[in-house]
Amino acid sequence: MSTQKAQRYDVVVIGGGHNGLTAAAYLARAGHSVCVLERREQIGGAAMSEELYPGFTYSTCSYVASLLRPEIMRTLDLPSHGLQIIPYEGSLNVLGDGRSLASYPDHDRNRREIAKFSHRDAEAYDRYGLEIMRQCRFIRPMLLMTPPDPTSLSIGDLKDLMKLGGMFADLGEQRLHDTLRFWLTSCGDFLDEYFESDVVKGHLAGSSIIGTALGPYSPGSAYVLLHHYMGEVDGTIGAWGYARGGMGAISKALGSAARSFGAEIRTDAEVETVIVRHGRAIGVALANGEEVHGRTILSNQDFRRITTRMKWSEPLPEDVVKQGRDYKIRGSSGKLNIALDGLPRFTGVEAHGTPSLNGDIHYSPSLEYIEKAYDDWKYGMWSRRPYVDVVVPTLIDPTMAPDGKHFMSVFVQYVPPTLHDGPWTPEKRDAFGETVIDLLEQMAPGIRNMILHKQVRSPWDIENEVGLSEGNIFQGELTMDQLMFNRPVPGMAQYRGPIPGFYMCGSSNHPGGGVMGAPGHNAARELMADLAGGKV
Ligand SMILES: Cc1cc2nc3c(=O)[nH]c(=O)nc-3n(C[C@H](O)[C@H](O)[C@H](O)COP(=O)(O)OP(=O)(O)OC[C@H]3O[C@@H](n4cnc5c(N)ncnc54)[C@H](O)[C@@H]3O)c2cc1C
Repeated sequence: MSTQKAQRYDVVVIGGGHNGLTAAAYLARAGHSVCVLERREQIGGAAMSEELYPGFTYSTCSYVASLLRPEIMRTLDLPSHGLQIIPYEGSLNVLGDGRSLASYPDHDRNRREIAKFSHRDAEAYDRYGLEIMRQCRFIRPMLLMTPPDPTSLSIGDLKDLMKLGGMFADLGEQRLHDTLRFWLTSCGDFLDEYFESDVVKGHLAGSSIIGTALGPYSPGSAYVLLHHYMGEVDGTIGAWGYARGGMGAISKALGSAARSFGAEIRTDAEVETVIVRHGRAIGVALANGEEVHGRTILSNQDFRRITTRMKWSEPLPEDVVKQGRDYKIRGSSGKLNIALDGLPRFTGVEAHGTPSLNGDIHYSPSLEYIEKAYDDWKYGMWSRRPYVDVVVPTLIDPTMAPDGKHFMSVFVQYVPPTLHDGPWTPEKRDAFGETVIDLLEQMAPGIRNMILHKQVRSPWDIENEVGLSEGNIFQGELTMDQLMFNRPVPGMAQYRGPIPGFYMCGSSNHPGGGVMGAPGHNAARELMADLAGGKV
């Protein structure tokens, strides 16, 4: 390690993902000296825009926005740092056989669409929507809370536990039962209670499996559905939109806010070792040997990476390393980013530019179809017939491609991080890409010939480029055993890491993944309390 005198900050942040940047902004705003060290040449982690083909901006990982907490948007004044979220209108299930099912914000139009498949389901949709909205309203106040430790007798924890208990008690017996059941049940079982049409159920189930190594009939998948509904755009709960200029615009705005408050952000700065003295984290050493010291260290990395991949100058206790190894962070998603020569024509969608095309377009004929796609993953194969979630943001954000051309993002479920016949190779990645393009060709005949350039990413690529272990998009499964005071593991759910002076702000922490900023916001609050209280 270097013998030069290291610089010293109040907080050294490992990683400039959107959560690290959020935390840095809040900490710097409160007057603390902050240095963010990002391994890659650009900030943003999985919320990044990149020009990989001339004139085209790709949202290389995350592609749609909703979850970013409005409180963060407001307090950091992100619009003044260039952030604009453009809401999109609909969602489309293209079945490739001439039929399609669209969702619209307009209630009557939506009802007519569902009635094409089942009048009974059109009736049931309002009840379903109401229940989802109830669940959203219940969980949203918890997103910016620090989960109390249920085993602690501290006044703060006891007060927070009582507050949380009160929220559950206020539900009343029936709603409490409904809520707990909803959190634990499968999306398939939940949808079966409301709907009869395979197409309607397939259409609604997508959000329950995106990014998770669960099938639609796996217990816990209904909660994943809720996770995708708990955001908002412009005050509309559950709405989604595009960050103008791609998802990197969110990270850029957060980085700009952090810098405006005085935070230093360094890229190409890979942290190799956490420096520990007498059991306390006091700094980091970069891959080039340089040391940066801090009163506290805050890591944006996932829990598996922190505990099993980072070097620690004094080794972590073996039980903590085991917790990291056991932490469920199974990769299940891949992605294609495509530059198109024009706008493809989807079968069963009459007019180009119909509002529903502006939003997410998927192929999801039934729950059984998705469950079979999951079966392949279980046995170490990418789905031969995958679930795809396609967006063409250039339909409403012209900044991402030249005139008349389009950027298409294709999120693919399910794709394993390692294959049954060995590791990923360039040939297997190409074959995976072809599987997806075959399906796209069925949804939009002729699309293959419109492709100018494509980037194909397996979970292995996502892990190696972005640093998300196993390529898990949420930095860890969103199942009940890993939520609230269990996230990432019991005893570390309050953003305080395995040793004094070390904190955690990545999506491995409450309330989990997605471009939400909540873990970064909450971690900054806890860290500031410890700094103010002289605990570090
Ligand atoms: C393919 C894909 C699609 C997705 N789609 C969506 C979507 O449409 N909408 C949505 O809301 N969410 C989506 N997500 C999820 C969302 O993007 C992530 O959950 C979220 O961005 C994670 O943010 P984070 O800040 O917690 O962590 P990360 O983004 O993982 O940031 C961690 C940062 O730490 C850096 N780092 C790691 N190790 C070191 C080191 N040793 N030294 C220095 N730096 C280090 C990394 O380079 C990275 O920048 C998607 C994710 C993926 C992968």
